[in-house]
Formats: sequence, structure tokens, C-alpha cells
Amino acid sequence: MCAHQEKTDLKNLTQEQLVNFVESLEQPAFRGRQLLAWIYKAGITEFEQMTDLAKKFRKVLEHAARMSRFDQAVIEISRDGSVKFGFRLEDGHVIESVLIPEEDRNTLCVSTQVGCAMGCTFCLTGKMGFSRNLSTAEIVNQVCAVRDWMEHNDRGKLSNLVFMGMGEPLANFDNLLDSISILTEQRGLDFSERRITVSTCGLIPQMLQLGTATNVNLAISLHAVDDTTRSSVMPVNKKYPIADLIEACRKYPQKKRKRIMFEYTLVPGVNDTDADAHKLAELLVAIPCKINLLAINSGEENSALKVSRQRILRFQAILREHDFTVFIRQSRGDDISAACGQLAGKEWDENRSTLL
Ligand code: SF4
Repeated sequence: MCAHQEKTDLKNLTQEQLVNFVESLEQPAFRGRQLLAWIYKAGITEFEQMTDLAKKFRKVLEHAARMSRFDQAVIEISRDGSVKFGFRLEDGHVIESVLIPEEDRNTLCVSTQVGCAMGCTFCLTGKMGFSRNLSTAEIVNQVCAVRDWMEHNDRGKLSNLVFMGMGEPLANFDNLLDSISILTEQRGLDFSERRITVSTCGLIPQMLQLGTATNVNLAISLHAVDDTTRSSVMPVNKKYPIADLIEACRKYPQKKRKRIMFEYTLVPGVNDTDADAHKLAELLVAIPCKINLLAINSGEENSALKVSRQRILRFQAILREHDFTVFIRQSRGDDISAACGQLAGKEWDENRSTLL
């Protein structure tokens, strides 16, 4: 084990945990809050740069702690402007984050696990199987690295975060919650909870816990209106079937005017008929929600499964007749395998890696 792995990685700690950490080093609580601001607001990477801390304390920190960061990445830029970052972790695994620039926002799609255990059949990450959860630091470091890259490359500011990258965020619940705490803390990365969305395949108990503990937005990958179809593409449905999931959405503790986002990928002959659209409207009736309709991404294996434009418009029209807010989401980053369901942590290529 290398020396720095024995030190406490301060990027794993929320403000409260930083306070406990400095108190364990016989320092007053406010030093913990100062550390948080140095790490995230000022982006400091060396303890010696923390000039308002006593020299003696900085020495203590150097022995007891470290601040991990992602300093190298493989970066691929799509024709549509999406940017995929491949980050190599300290144990050699590679994870990916995708920056999606739009006119009015810059959204980062963040990963929470290496691989995924949920096994959704349409998802390349699911096909990798599950290796491990990401630490809080590894989740937060994706945001820090992309924020810094944007700053150095005049790409504006990161405005929104979606937990829709590799992995099922709610299966890594504690680290997800700690990372949200750091991301939203004023002295931390200072994102509004309104600009953070957590997407789940439908882990009901954790979903309800998330709604109680935070005020972030919730997105549900629904993709089918009957259990037979949904279970065949999303094995999680066998444990948490549609009726239970929808019931949980009705109970979901969320503030007024907030709406759950339902993701529905249309696959010809599987879930794209007029009857499916009417059934979807029936299922979601009276749930404050929005619906995102998607076409399956055209990875070579999937090209035959792409729904026609006409069909997707018809599906949207039916849902609109039922008074739902429905968007057709354009696939982004398709050409660099950065679109939803395409993140598979390809081999790390040392020759293509860039210093951040
Ligand atoms: S879609 Fe999400 S939950 Fe399903 S296998 Fe892929 S990463 Fe996991």
C-alpha cells in the first residue's frame, strides 16, 4: 500500500466530517469549515498554500491527510460539442463523465460506480457487470476536474449535474449523499439542489430516503408500461414492479412545483404503440411529472432498434392529449460513445491522456 493511501483523503469528507476530523487533531471546529473553502472554493491542492492556517497545523495535515484529484484524463469531443472525460482511478479502473453544453446550461453527467449490477439489457455499462462503488472523493473529483478544465478552456461555467453516468446512484447511497452535501455546501462547490438530478432504475427504499434527505430532482428510468416487458429489459423490475414503483412516486416527498422526470426509451414493436402511450398516461395520472421520450442509441448492435421520428412524435402527441409535459430528448455524444447507456469505461490509452 502506498503512503498516501493511509492518509485521510479530505475529498471524502463533508463539512461536518471535516469538522470532526480537525477536532480529532485538537483544532477548533471552524478550521474544518476553512479547509472546505480552501479545497473547493479556492481549488487549493497543497496544504502549504492554505496561508491562514498556522504552519504547525499545515505540517500536521501533511502527515495525516491528503487531497486527491484527477489530474489526467482521456478527452473526446463529439461533433455535437459533448465532451467525454475518461478518468483513471488509483486502482486502475477507468470511469467516464460527459459534459453536455447547451445554449442556456452546461450539464455534467456524473458516474457513481465502476460498472453496474443492475443489468439493464440496453445499457453497455450494465454489460460490464459491477466492480465497485465510487468513493465520495471519486464522485466529487469528476466535478472538480471538469470545472477546472472548463475554466482553462474558456467553456463557461458548469451549471447542472445529473447522476446518470456509469452505475446506479442509489446503490451507492451513502457516498452519493455525502457527495451531494459537498456539491451543495456554500463553502463547497455551491450548486443549488434545483440543478442536481439523480436518476434511478427504481430502487424504491433508497428513492424515498433520497426525497427525505435532499431536495434534488428525481428521474426514473421507466421504459415500459407492463411488468413482463420491463422485467425483460430491467431485471430490477422483478424486485420492484411497476405498481410499487408508481405508488412510491405518488408518495415521494417533494416540494411543491417540483416534478419527477420519467425517462421512456421507445423501442419499435416493444413499447411504442398508441396503446402503450395511453397506458403510460394512465399510470402517471396525477403524479406531478415530466416525461422524456428517447430513441435507443445507435451503437452498432442497436441500430435496428431505433424508433422512427414519426412514431416518437405520435407517442408524444397522445401523452400531450392527456395533459402531460413531454420532451423528445436528442441523443448527445453518440459518435464518441458518450450517450446514455454507452458509457462502458474503455481501455485507458496512455498516449491519448491529457494533463488537466
Ligand atoms: S441503465 Fe443505469 S441502472 Fe441500468 S445497467 Fe445501465 S447504469 Fe445500471
